[in-house]
Amino acid sequence: MSRCEPQTKPKQEKRFQGIAVAPGIAQAQVVIHWVDDEEIPQRAITAEELPEEIARFESALIATRAELLEIQQRISDAIGSKDASIFDAHLLVVEDRTLIDEVLRGLEKDHQNVEAVFHKVAECYCRTLGEIDDPYLRERVVDIEDVARRVIRHLLGKAPRNLASHDSRHIIVSHNLTPSDTASINRSLVLGFVTEQGSKTSHTAIMARSMDIPAIVGLHDICSHLNSGDDVLIDGYSGILILNPTPETLQEYGGIELKKEAVEEKLELIRETSSTTSDGRHIILSANIELPEELEDVTASGAEGIGLYRTEFLYLNRTTPPDEEEQYENYRLIAERSKPHSVIIRTLDIGGDKETGSLDLEEEQNPFLGCRAIRFCLQNPEIFKTQLRAILRAAAVGNVRVMYPMVSGLEELRRANAVMEECKQELRQRGAEFHPDPDIGVMIEIPSAALCADHLAREVKFFSIGTNDLIQYAIAVDRVNDRIAHLYEPTHPAVIRLLKIVVDAAHKNNIWVGVCGEMAGDIQLIPLLLGLGVDELSASSSVVPRVKKAVQSLSLPTCQRLADEVLALDTASAILTRCIEVAHSHYAELLD
Ligand code: PEP
Ligand code: MG
Repeated sequence: MSRCEPQTKPKQEKRFQGIAVAPGIAQAQVVIHWVDDEEIPQRAITAEELPEEIARFESALIATRAELLEIQQRISDAIGSKDASIFDAHLLVVEDRTLIDEVLRGLEKDHQNVEAVFHKVAECYCRTLGEIDDPYLRERVVDIEDVARRVIRHLLGKAPRNLASHDSRHIIVSHNLTPSDTASINRSLVLGFVTEQGSKTSHTAIMARSMDIPAIVGLHDICSHLNSGDDVLIDGYSGILILNPTPETLQEYGGIELKKEAVEEKLELIRETSSTTSDGRHIILSANIELPEELEDVTASGAEGIGLYRTEFLYLNRTTPPDEEEQYENYRLIAERSKPHSVIIRTLDIGGDKETGSLDLEEEQNPFLGCRAIRFCLQNPEIFKTQLRAILRAAAVGNVRVMYPMVSGLEELRRANAVMEECKQELRQRGAEFHPDPDIGVMIEIPSAALCADHLAREVKFFSIGTNDLIQYAIAVDRVNDRIAHLYEPTHPAVIRLLKIVVDAAHKNNIWVGVCGEMAGDIQLIPLLLGLGVDELSASSSVVPRVKKAVQSLSLPTCQRLADEVLALDTASAILTRCIEVAHSHYAELLD
C-alpha cells in the first residue's frame, strides 16, 4: 500500500519510459489509484479508551457519509443523476443501524480497537449476505465492501481512494489495474492511465485500446515519483510519461498531435471502403469487443462485424453470474446491431488475469496454466450451458458464430460440442426458438492445438488464432509479467512456424482462419500475416482503420515473398526487421 504514498513533488520536467500499450496523447492531473487493501491494526483497548473508540467510529461514519454525498454530487454534475444514483445503496450502508449497533456491541465485548471490530463485523455481514440465495442481497456485498474500505481509511486517517470519485478529467496512475477496474473506468473523465505493472497483451492494456484511452504500463515505481494533482503528459505512442511538461514540450506534442490527427482524417476517408489488397484479395477485417458499449466504435471504425466478443467481461464487477435471460438479451442486441455482419461470440474465458467474484474460482499457483476458459466451463457445466443456451437463442436472431477458447486438442472440442448438443435438446424440450446449427470454431492459442490443427480443422468451421496466448505458451513468457516483457516476441521463429502450420491445416481442410490476438492490430506485422495466408483479421476498433489502410497498400505476392523469406530466418529480431522494412515501404505514414 505504501508504494503509492505521496512523497516530495518535483518541480522540473522529468521523463519516465514505460511500455506503450494504447496510442494517443493525454495531458491532465494525476489521480493515484490505491489498489491494495488496508492492513487492519489489531490492539487491545481498556475500558477507559472505549468512549474514544466509539467517538472515532462515529466520526469515521460521518466522514464517509460526507465523502459519498460529495462523490454523488460531483458525478451527478459531471455525467448525470442516473449514474450518481449507484451511490444510494452505499449511503444506506453507513446509516444501517443493525451494522452500527453490532460494532458498538463488539467494542464493549471484545475490548479491541474499532478498526479491528468494524472490519470483523463488516466481513461477517458480507459473508452472510453472500451466502443468501438472493441475487439482490448478494449484489449488496460489493457496496458494503466498498463502504467498509472507506470507513477503515477514515479511521486510519488516510485519504479516500476511488476510481470514479473525480469529477474533472484526469489520468489514473496505479501500481496495477485489474480488467474489472478498467471496465469500470469512466471514459469521459479518464483521459489516460499508467500502471507500474502489466504488458502489451495484458487484458487491461487490451481494454485501453478498445476504449481508445492512451495508456502506458510497466512504468516501475512511478507511484513513488508522482503525487495526486501533479501535471503530466502521457505519450501512448512511445510509452513516455512526462511530469511537469514545459511549454516547449507541450508545443512539441501539439505538433505531434496535429500530425496524428491529419493521418486520422485521411483514414476516415477510407472507412466505407473494403479491406482488399492492391491486387484484389479481400481480407475480412472485424473488431474485438469486451463490452456492448463498444458497438458504436465498431460501426464507426468501418469493421465488418465482430471477430471476437470477449464475453467474460459480462461476468466481472458483480457477485452473481448473468443468467440465461440477461445473456440472451446481451447477445441478441449485439447480433442485431452488427447486421448484416456476423458476431463471433467466444464462450467464457475466465481465469488467467481475469477474476470475478461472481464465479467460484479457486486460487491457483499458475492461473494461466490452470482452470481457465474451456477447462473451467467443462468443469462447471451448468455455467457453460447457461451461456450456450443464450448463444443458441441469439443465433436465431442474428448471424452468430460460436468460438471455444483455450482448446488444447480434439477431445476437448468434442466434449464442448457434446454440451452444446445437450443445450439444443433442452431448448427443444422447452419449445424455445434457437439456431440448430450455428458455425462453431476454436481459438488456436495453445501450441498443442496449433500442432494438431489438422485434427481440429476437420471438425470445426473456422479457426481464430489467439496470438496473445499462443505466444506466451509457445515461448513460456507470462503475458502480464513486465519483467520479462522483452522476451515476449511475436516474431519469434517458433511463433511464425506455428502460425504457418495452423493456416496450412485450415486451408487444406477448406476452412477459413483468422487472427484475433493483438498481432492482428500490429501494422508492422500485417504483411507477414497476409503472406502466411490468413483470411481474417480482428482487432480493437481503434486500430481497424490503420489495419485497413495497411491491407489496401499491400499486394499478396509481396506479402508471400516476405513470409517465405522470414520462415528461413532464425531470430525474432531479424524477422521483425524485415517486416518493418516491408511495412515502411508501403505505408510509412502509419508507422511514424
Ligand atoms: C488471444 O489469446 O490472443 C486472445 C485473443 O484472447 P485473450 O487475449 O482474451 O486471451
Ligand atoms: Mg487468449
